Amino acid sequence: MFEIQGQSTAVAQLQRVIASGRLASTWIFAGPAGVGKHLTAVALAKTCLCDHPQKQSGKPMARTRNSCLPPDFEWTLACGRCDSCRAVDAGSHPDLHLIHRNLIRYHDHAGNSKASTLGIDVIRGEITGNASPEHPVDPKLYRRSQRGRGKWFIIDEADLMEPPAQNALLKALEEPPAQSFLVLVTASPDHLLATIRSRAQLVRFGALPPEALCPRLLERGLTPGQAKLLARLSGGSLGVALRWLDAGHTAMDEDAPAAPSRRESNRSAPRRPPTAKSTEPGQFAVLGWIDRVALALENLALGRGGGTALAGAIQSCAEQYAQAELRRDPLASKVVLTRDGVAVMLGFAAAWLDDRLAAAVAAPIAAPLSPPGQLAPAVVSRCLAICRAAEHQVDMNAHIGLALASAGAGLEQAIRRGG
Ligand SMILES: [Zn+2]
Repeated sequence: MFEIQGQSTAVAQLQRVIASGRLASTWIFAGPAGVGKHLTAVALAKTCLCDHPQKQSGKPMARTRNSCLPPDFEWTLACGRCDSCRAVDAGSHPDLHLIHRNLIRYHDHAGNSKASTLGIDVIRGEITGNASPEHPVDPKLYRRSQRGRGKWFIIDEADLMEPPAQNALLKALEEPPAQSFLVLVTASPDHLLATIRSRAQLVRFGALPPEALCPRLLERGLTPGQAKLLARLSGGSLGVALRWLDAGHTAMDEDAPAAPSRRESNRSAPRRPPTAKSTEPGQFAVLGWIDRVALALENLALGRGGGTALAGAIQSCAEQYAQAELRRDPLASKVVLTRDGVAVMLGFAAAWLDDRLAAAVAAPIAAPLSPPGQLAPAVVSRCLAICRAAEHQVDMNAHIGLALASAGAGLEQAIRRGG
């Protein structure tokens, strides 16, 4: 568990429970997407399944420092060498079951599911079993542990479980078989039934600090400035930042001239945001999307472009984002991904506006999207409200083009009229 960075509180909580020997049978790992919840769940299972777990004091080594544990606390760690540890690393441990929505392809006999939710077929097939005469499935939950150290079930995106799936799970949780452990990994614990939440031990995970996130982004070839920018825009989520980078690669490979802001800027010659200068052509599309949204806003603020251009930029970037994600996960819904893309681009716009607010009150900006210009705080507040309203509308299934056109017009009006 030493390898888990930036989650001292959660790791300390788990180490204390392991040391006490009183492991709950159901856990909820809650926190933003992409901050290490799944990794920690697997590390917990690996430690508990290990044939020769090791006790190690955190005192001698700097890397083991955890401010939430006393320096002489004895950590319990997986040995990393036994058959069980090797099987976990290879993804082939017979007592560790990883459950995610894409498993529907093994359980959906009609083959229609878009895997946008975690259906009851997955929960039955992977955990509780199914007594249906056409497709009977053994309940894995009630099988004997094959290596004798218990069974672990880790459900990713558990909040996507449909109500029947949650109810099926709840029945199993009411009388859990001995030595079976279930970890529900979720960014939205409120979407789980209250009766499930009340039976589970909650572990909270927070956003990652830039010092835990930036080194991993530098490894991907970003400059320090770009790494700080993505650390900020991803809300401290390594998973989100890496997904953007991967989507960027795909988008760039297939939509060759995908740095439109560069071409547009040459045509209309407005001031360039600094992130664009460090963006290598053919590299990460996400930096191009950030640029393009920032540039459209900057043009709007300077009277060189209108709200329609901004709305068009956001929609086009959101569609590129959706195409890239769809190539990675063909089972996903394009409409849902485009909505996700709009939310991402509106998040970039909100960050650009935040920079203006910080500049107006002379507050430091850690990783600005573009050189901080002036906008009155009242204008920024109005614009942020418009962005939030647009995101909400799109989330509630409004027509994306119309919602963005309306937001663009509203932003143009707010900026032109000074609020
Ligand atoms: Zn081991």
